[in-house]
This record gives sequence, C-alpha cells and structure tokens, in this order.
Amino acid sequence: MIVGIDLGTTNSLVAVWDKGTSVLVTNALGQLLTPSVVGLDDQGRILVGQAARERLSTHPGLTTALFKRHMGSARTVQLGATPFRPEELSAMLLRSLKEDVERAHGKPVTDVVISVPAYFSDAQRKATRIAGELAGMTVTRLINEPTAAALAYGLPQRGGESSFLVFDLGGGTFDVSILELFDGVMEVRSSAGDNYLGGEDFDQLLVQRFLQTQAETPGFPATHAISEALQREAERVRIALGQAASCEFVLRLDGQQWQYSFTQQDLAQLFEPLLERLRNPVERALRDARIRIDELDQILMVGGATRMPLVRKLAASLFGRFPSVHLNPDETVAHGAAIQAALNARDAALEEVVLTDVCPYTLGIETSQRFGQRLEAGHYLPIIERNSTVPVSRVETVCTVDESQERVQVRIFQGESRLVRDNIALGALEIPVPPNTGGSVDLDVRFTYDNNGILECQVSIPLTGEQFELVIENNPGVLSPEEIATCLQNLAALKVHPREQQVNTLLVARLERLYQESLGEHRQQIDHWANLFQQALASQDERVIRQARKQLSERLDQFEHQGGF
Ligand code: AMP
Repeated sequence: MIVGIDLGTTNSLVAVWDKGTSVLVTNALGQLLTPSVVGLDDQGRILVGQAARERLSTHPGLTTALFKRHMGSARTVQLGATPFRPEELSAMLLRSLKEDVERAHGKPVTDVVISVPAYFSDAQRKATRIAGELAGMTVTRLINEPTAAALAYGLPQRGGESSFLVFDLGGGTFDVSILELFDGVMEVRSSAGDNYLGGEDFDQLLVQRFLQTQAETPGFPATHAISEALQREAERVRIALGQAASCEFVLRLDGQQWQYSFTQQDLAQLFEPLLERLRNPVERALRDARIRIDELDQILMVGGATRMPLVRKLAASLFGRFPSVHLNPDETVAHGAAIQAALNARDAALEEVVLTDVCPYTLGIETSQRFGQRLEAGHYLPIIERNSTVPVSRVETVCTVDESQERVQVRIFQGESRLVRDNIALGALEIPVPPNTGGSVDLDVRFTYDNNGILECQVSIPLTGEQFELVIENNPGVLSPEEIATCLQNLAALKVHPREQQVNTLLVARLERLYQESLGEHRQQIDHWANLFQQALASQDERVIRQARKQLSERLDQFEHQGGF
C-alpha cells in the first residue's frame, strides 16, 4: 500500500495512492478527519480520535491533545498512572490511521510518508520518524507540509511553469513556503514560519478575553477546572463568527451559566496582534527566495485556520489579490503526502516529477574569535545556510586555538543568531587532536542534511586522516534505540479500544460531557437519554443499539447546536 499521513496538531488524515490518484480513507466513525487526541478508556485501553476528544473535559487525567507541539522534547504526559512521550502518543494515533487503511483495503501497511511542518527541527523530525516506527511502519520519507500542499495543487499543471506561495495556518503551527515548478521539477525556494502560532492561539485569546469579562462575577469557577470547555467553546465561537455578525460565548457548569456576546469587530481587534505575526514569515520567505509578490503565480491557502475570514483578508491585503482555495484546506496535505509516497514508489503516473526541498534554518557550530590577545568563545559559524536546497553537504575548516590543546569540542547549533547562546543546541562531538604538533591543527567539519531533514556531522583531521561522526548526545528530545525498544514493548502491552465499539463509546462520552456541562432540567434530560442508551447497549441487539444511537445523536445535535431539545 502506498500511504501518506498528515499528522496534524488538531486533526490527522490518511490518504492512499490508488489507481493513479490519491484517495482519503475514513476512520471507524466514517469520518475523514481524526482528531489528534488520544487517551485511555475506562478499561485502560487506547482510545483515539473523536471519542477521546469528547473525553478531554470529562476525563482530563486519561486524555490528551496537542502533543505534536511537544514532539522532539522529553516532556511526558501522564495518562492514568503511566507517563507517555509525545512519540508514543503520536504512535497511538498513527497506528489507528494505519488500521483504518488496512480495514478499508485489506492489505498491510508497512511504509508511510508523514508530513511535518517545514519549520520542524532536527529533533522534532527524528521524533516523528520514531513515532512511525513505534506504530509499526517504516517512514520512507518526511515531507514538509507546504511542500505536500504544493504537490497536491501543482501536479495537475505539470509541464507548466509556475511559482507558488503556500500559506499554511493549522491548529498549532504556521508555515510559509515558496516553491517553483519548472519542467516537472518542483523546487522549494524558501520556507519560514512560526511553530507556536495556530488556530488554538486565537482561541486562547478569546478565552482570556472571556475570562476578563467574567472577572467580577461571583462564583465563577477556577479556570484550570474548565480550561477544556473554554477552549472548545472559544473554537466554536471563533468559527461561528466567520459567518455570523455576533455569537454568545457560553460556559455552563454545575447548574450555572456564564456568557458574553462577541461580535466580528471584537474579534478583529482581539486578533490584531496574532494577525500581525503572520506578516513576518511571509516577508522573510519572499526575501530569502528573492521573489517579489507580483512574480508569484499562485497563493495557496492550507490548514483549517485559513478558513477564518480575518486571515483571508490579511492574506488578500498582503498579496494584493485573493488566494486560491479550490482544494479543501484540511485535506490538501494528506493528498500531497500520498503523492510523495507514490513518487517514492515510482508509480508510473508520476514518473516525471522531481521534488527538491530546502533546509529551513541555518546549521552551524560554535567557534572562538580572537580580539587582540583575548579569545572569546560562543560565536556562531554557519555551515549550511537556511534555505539551501537539500540534500546538501557543506564543509568548513576550523583550527585549534592552542598548541597544547588535546581535545576539541564541536558543538552544533541551529538558528540564525550571531551568538550560539541564542540558537538551539543540537549536540556535541568531543574529538581528540594530536598534541605537540608545533602549530594549530585543522579540522574539516562536514554537515550533511538529507531529504528528510536529518542532519549528520562528520569531522576529519587532514593531518592524521582520522574521522569522527556525530552521535547527538545529551539531547533528551530524541529517544535512543534502547528507549525505542522499551516504548515498543510498553505500547504492545496496551490493548486498543475495540474498533466496532467506537461509535457507541463516542455517544457515551458525548452524553457524559453534556451531563457535566448542563444544569437543572437539561441535565435531567441528558441523564434520561444516557440511561436509555445504556439499556439499548445492555440488550446487545445490534439493531436496537443502532436505532437508539441514531435517535439520540440527532437529539444531541439539536440540543447542542440549537440550544434546546
Ligand atoms: P489543521 O491543523 O489544519 O487541522 O487546522 C485546525 C485548525 O483549523 C483548528 O484551530 C480549527 O479551529 C481551525 N478551523 C477548522 N475549520 C475552521 C473554520 N471553518 N473556521 C475557522 N477555523 C477553522
């Protein structure tokens, strides 16, 4: 099977390459978008997607979301008594998507292409690969999300010549890439972005403003207890204000209700600082690609948050024209990942397309600089400059500073700052140098950055012919092979929530959430429905269960979206 996965911060999707085209695959609930939420059910089995999302507020100690933001770090999340790393949580999600494909196509999935934000660091990319491995797949390639989007848009026009800017604002990240398609070669010219800017940040602003409006209200609950409900309500209000002129932000809890009416104008004011932050990466990407806005043939909007009219308006004013939106912004990246997987597999329909990408940030080492007699450490020597086309291999020669020096520490950094303390440390390599040579010793430092965004560092000493390779040490964000083996064992020991029960679990979780959020008469009604559904489940008669599920789902939709029974 040729499979591509868009492993998103908020939602994930899987597409397969089938008979010359990419096709999205539905999950156990029949949906294309699987929320990137995982948790444990009441029996300690892994629960993924919409049902887990419903349990975020009712079972916060057993459920988690937004773990993509912590990929590449050693930060763990406790689910019940067990701590999980972001790779393990991602692996649970990936495994579920893999099973969706296996169910739909009846064939095992062994290889996969996974998309990552162009701005993901080395550690974040490695963590993504490891997550794929933990899910039982070989990650044949990581593809940058905007590159995937451009592939999805660009292929139909193969043979032509065009330049794109991909403006990708998802739930948690913002990426801008500039690509050129020429004679079947798609080249990423530059990419820039912000790893901490997405739809959820807009929601967070809305939550803060709502809390400000309630600051004086007596009896308002502690925020940590309601953060999930607030975030969900903020997202609902933000999306609704894409169309409606005003919308009530409502928090219901324990028999009480708090609310505040937001208008589109409030939103425009509130979001101004975040919208402003979208400008910078666009300008940098244009500068780095040495392209003017009027030279761009297309502006592609990707990522769910680009549906916000305020974002589209900003893009239109930035670019002086309306961007292309003819592909579904949620689905474009998954299609592109499947196309990349097909390119890897050399599918006949795609032979002519070659893809080149860039390294999104500068990579270099620490050096010392001499100021008169004084030697000052901590300076940055770039080796691979940002937006170099990959794969790329560059070498710089440095030398020892002291004749009696016996060792050199090569410290590797990523970033754009002059001093290494302002850049991100990736690792270090300790190298013995031949002593007493009567002068300084040269060292050739070679950096190789491959198509997957993985960095290798080699240091050689021409004087002796010795060579050293970097094993990135002291990077707690990257799991060692032993740790991967342990994670695999731990994950294998966990049972997965049965697939066929997912639709019922989703309804039970939804009823539980609404019960917690409601009050008085509404709460009694939900309790009644929950009991009805439990009785249907107890009958073990699939027909009865299906009918009850259908009826109750409709009533809950009415209850939630129209505010009544
Ligand atoms: P993605 O990471 O691409 O799945 O995008 C998820 C983000 O898109 C979330 O923050 C959603 O709130 C946001 N989103 C999805 N649909 C809409 C919409 N119609 N209007 C505004 N934001 C949306």
